[in-house]
Amino acid sequence: MTSHLPSGLQGGEEALISEGVLLTRLDTAVGWARKFSLFPYPFATACCAMEYMSLSMSPYDIDRFGALLPRFTPRQADLLMVIGTVTCRQAPILKRVYAQMAEPKWVMSFGACASTGGFYDNYTTLPGIDRIIPVDVYVPGCPPRPESVLDALMALQRKIQHSKQKLFGEVADPT
Ligand code: SF4
Repeated sequence: MTSHLPSGLQGGEEALISEGVLLTRLDTAVGWARKFSLFPYPFATACCAMEYMSLSMSPYDIDRFGALLPRFTPRQADLLMVIGTVTCRQAPILKRVYAQMAEPKWVMSFGACASTGGFYDNYTTLPGIDRIIPVDVYVPGCPPRPESVLDALMALQRKIQHSKQKLFGEVADPT
């Protein structure tokens, strides 16, 4: 029998035992669902935001990855995309946005400024958001090409798929 399993479920541990009946691990199925239903919160502060906007245009079509719809409240988002320069005065706001997101949640550092402070080597600019919040994936470039963002998104999806999935009532370590 030829199976037509979603790619995330082809791990050798799944079995299609009849039409409409699929055996898999709960962890695998939850990971597959989570990686293809990301809801980004764009914390956009500077010029990298132009590249972010282009991701939803037809040449790049981020909707193919299930990550198109931005949520403008952190309580409805699970992917924090930090896009652009973050100043020290903005740092407490970014920390609060991250804290308000529900578990499980992930963070993408979008571009050189968010990752390292970029060329702003001065006392007003945060030299990388990983000083204040955990980062799952970094996107290099000033600005990054949309292809780089999609590459980072796929890396994040692989990370989500292979993570131990937190289920009901489980919370992240308070770090
Ligand atoms: S990385 Fe470059 S394009 Fe992005 S916010 Fe910084 S200066 Fe602007």
